[in-house]
Amino acid sequence: MKVWVDQEYCTGDGLCEELCPQVFRLADDGLAYVMEGGEIRGPGGRTGTVAVPPELEDEVLDAQAQCAGECIYVER
Ligand code: SF4
Repeated sequence: MKVWVDQEYCTGDGLCEELCPQVFRLADDGLAYVMEGGEIRGPGGRTGTVAVPPELEDEVLDAQAQCAGECIYVER
């Protein structure tokens, strides 16, 4: 499973980071990004797609379901 965030629609409420801090992180611009290896991956958007560790898939799907901006995209 892979995941990315479309920062254009992110509200910055931080819910994804609360639900799965291993994958989501609010950056200095106040928007959520996905992480890999403990660091934010790339410039964001689809080019920042990361692989989700299997043990975190449920948390990522929960974050996607609750995301206020509906801007967390999961690919399988
Ligand atoms: S839950 Fe969605 S809207 Fe909220 S910070 Fe995360 S990506 Fe942005």
